[in-house]
Amino acid sequence: MTFEEMDKEYVLHTYNRNYINFKRGENAALFSEDGKDFIDFTSGIGVVSVGHGNGRVADAIYNQAQNITHVSNLFLIEPQAKLAKKIVELSGFDMAVFFGNSGAEANEGAIKIARKYGQNRFKNKRYKVLTLEYSFHGRTITTLKATGQESFHQNAFSPYPEGFSYKNQIKDIYSAIDDETIGVMLELVQGEGGVQAFDKKEIKELAAFLQKNDLLLIIDEVQTGVFRSGEFLACKLYDIEPDIITLAKGLAGGVPIGAVMTKHKDIFTYGDHGSTFGGNFLSTRAGLEVLDILENYHKDGSLKKGIDYFDDKLQQSAKKHPDLFLGKTGLGLMRGLQCKDSGTLSKIIKAAFDNGVLVLKAGRNTVRFLPPLTISKDEINEGFARFEKALDTLK
Ligand SMILES: *Cc1c(COP(=O)(O)O)cnc(C)c1O
Repeated sequence: MTFEEMDKEYVLHTYNRNYINFKRGENAALFSEDGKDFIDFTSGIGVVSVGHGNGRVADAIYNQAQNITHVSNLFLIEPQAKLAKKIVELSGFDMAVFFGNSGAEANEGAIKIARKYGQNRFKNKRYKVLTLEYSFHGRTITTLKATGQESFHQNAFSPYPEGFSYKNQIKDIYSAIDDETIGVMLELVQGEGGVQAFDKKEIKELAAFLQKNDLLLIIDEVQTGVFRSGEFLACKLYDIEPDIITLAKGLAGGVPIGAVMTKHKDIFTYGDHGSTFGGNFLSTRAGLEVLDILENYHKDGSLKKGIDYFDDKLQQSAKKHPDLFLGKTGLGLMRGLQCKDSGTLSKIIKAAFDNGVLVLKAGRNTVRFLPPLTISKDEINEGFARFEKALDTLK
């Protein structure tokens, strides 16, 4: 039985997989069993932030695993305490952190904090959370419902929890707030929805309005966070201070982790929330190593250099193919090329794969790029050379 047959027989079919068997990775390069090599412009959907096979993260995980991986949250977990401190310091906000295992779980935590805040602070409980169309917040029943895309609200999984509705644009939010609304949850750059960055002025105005009315601003930084935007948090680029922020994807370099942080540190009390695995020795030790690497990478200017270089290449591709692309979108190392014709999107992704470069799709018409943040100049050059070759085959 081949691994492909095994997968088809024994794994539930929730993904229409590409059956390539990767065996080894090295920063932004991946090598498959059949001897092919790839430049990875996806980093496993924004997860492998410090690259494949990162030696420092591997050593940290190995050393931790040899000692203690897990004792549960009933006891002190030294790397968890350190990682929480590090995240809070890097954010510059006066917040505290809860650790889970995924982005959806972090967002669930955020919604729980918001609902309890809505009960504690208002005479008539406020519980409704407004989100945006084309948002993506996760795959649990609640975060599916929070996701503002009808295609995610399959009837098969109903009934969904109450208390979520969607607006098309930031400016539509104000009139949608009623006396049961507790806050707004959004991504500053919509990832799955099409790599669309919101306007800074609009976001700042919304943040100020919510604060003035004692309502919550929840920023889902599951994809934008952990230096993906060029700063530790995209919030910094938007010059806002939210009430609640969620993180996950790139935080531990591939070890499952999620985090929700808030300035409302007194909302959760003992027993309000929990997780068996969340914040254990293994994931938080990996997270500490990742943040140490990326903090230095940011400080010494390497991250900015990588972002600028990638952006240049992306701009060249967009310019060279006005027949295919409307232009580039996104920021930092979370970028997109918007296709003129959504029919060409899957052809581009397939051609890129056939030419040895991995890219993602976002929304209906965007090629998405989420390379490791540590991608080198040579890897960027090679990746775009392959991408150009792929585009030429579509002519
Ligand atoms: C990926 C993602 C999620 C879901 O994260 P999981 O780890 O898959 O649960 C939530 N929000 C955003 C913005 C994401 O990009």
